[in-house]
Amino acid sequence: MDNSILGIHHITAIAGDPQRNYNFYTKVLGLRMVKRTVNFDDPKTYHFYFGDGNGTPGGILTFFPWPRVRQGVNGAGMATEIGYSVPAGSLDFWKARFEKFNVSHGEVSEKFEEQFLPFQDPDGLNLEMIVSKTNDNRKPWVTAEVKEEVATKGFHNITLTLNDIEATAAILTDIFGYKFLGQEDNLHRFKTDAIETAAIVDLHEKPQVAAGLNAGGTNHHVAFRVKDEKTLMAYRVKVIRHGLDITEKIDRDYFFSLYFREPGGVLFEIATDNPGFATDETVEELGSSLQLPDRYKSSREQIEKVLPEINTN
Ligand code: ZN
Repeated sequence: MDNSILGIHHITAIAGDPQRNYNFYTKVLGLRMVKRTVNFDDPKTYHFYFGDGNGTPGGILTFFPWPRVRQGVNGAGMATEIGYSVPAGSLDFWKARFEKFNVSHGEVSEKFEEQFLPFQDPDGLNLEMIVSKTNDNRKPWVTAEVKEEVATKGFHNITLTLNDIEATAAILTDIFGYKFLGQEDNLHRFKTDAIETAAIVDLHEKPQVAAGLNAGGTNHHVAFRVKDEKTLMAYRVKVIRHGLDITEKIDRDYFFSLYFREPGGVLFEIATDNPGFATDETVEELGSSLQLPDRYKSSREQIEKVLPEINTN
């Protein structure tokens, strides 16, 4: 099982105002900012990582906050809903909290015999609090207002919207080792047995829906998790054998990555557990100051001048 895809590693989305993004995820949702760095391909913009106390894969949500970004549109070829796993009995707390903070949300409903509460972040990104019907023993990050009995434990699932699910389903089952679990209306659920949590991918088939526009309030890519670089490179061969293009191995400082676009249009990444986030700062310090990759370290002064200031109190 060690050489399997171990569910979701992280999900990356696009936001607008960085301060608003920081406030929502740390204060309203009660996540920890586990890394504050720059977009490695565009160091004039931030890259924020939110997760549990350690930035454990399976619960890392990352953002490129671009202050003047245009509003994106969800559609085909995109990850369209992010599901967080929350404890049984916590949905009333979350609904009341969303009302208190004027967070756009729907009503509690059910899919695949699991209760969920849909909501949107300030940029319009679709999220869900879901009570998993299987055990989730992950230890959450807690704050004064979001305590252990209600706190998010990491991801439960990710939902991809597709015009036709067949070719994407084949990636999940033939390459990633997922199994088809069931179908409700046009929602098809796939799950891997290689890990207990963040193990679900739902494919929402909408034949008529237009392609999405990837900008503010939409997801940029979904990263799947492997334990190390040897496993990563083994998947590179499998993706190529499946007839798809894939990047070379890329060093993202906190993990090693490969990227490929799956046939349904969603950008997939495969990312390693190693080395993790406590490389350039200690676990206690995670997210407390701006971290730069080696190649930008000598430009710190200029970079800090251009980046918007963030109040992390
Ligand atoms: Zn990524």
